[in-house]
Amino acid sequence: MQDCIFCKIAGHEINARFVHETDELAAFQDLNPQAPTHIIIIPKKHIARLSEAAEEEIPLLGRLQYAAREIAEKLGVADNFRLVANNGRKAGQSVDHLHYHLLAGRKMNWPPG
Ligand code: 5GP
Ligand code: ZN
Repeated sequence: MQDCIFCKIAGHEINARFVHETDELAAFQDLNPQAPTHIIIIPKKHIARLSEAAEEEIPLLGRLQYAAREIAEKLGVADNFRLVANNGRKAGQSVDHLHYHLLAGRKMNWPPG
């Protein structure tokens, strides 16, 4: 989608530090990391947010989650990490392209802010 920063990263129009990529998903380091490990995992297809995902996208959603598991292992944080999807402005979503935050490397608090 035009003017979507994560579509541009997925299409390599904007640089990002990739840690994982397939035909249908990409993972890269967050520009403003909130933990020693902070990776953004996205589908290359533009889906604005999880609440707009269609039933036919269940396999893609599963592969995104499995990618998180693989990336955590690759980065050596498989024992302790947090996977977050902010859905909607009030929930903290600032980029309207579905993404998961993979956070690790520090103690995580609960409940999240
Ligand atoms: P949200 O607030 O929507 O859940 O998360 C968006 C995340 O994307 C933020 O953590 C922010 O730092 C990150 N981000 C925004 N723009 C860019 C960018 O151009 N490059 C990278 N690597 N991360 C970005
Ligand atoms: Zn997009």
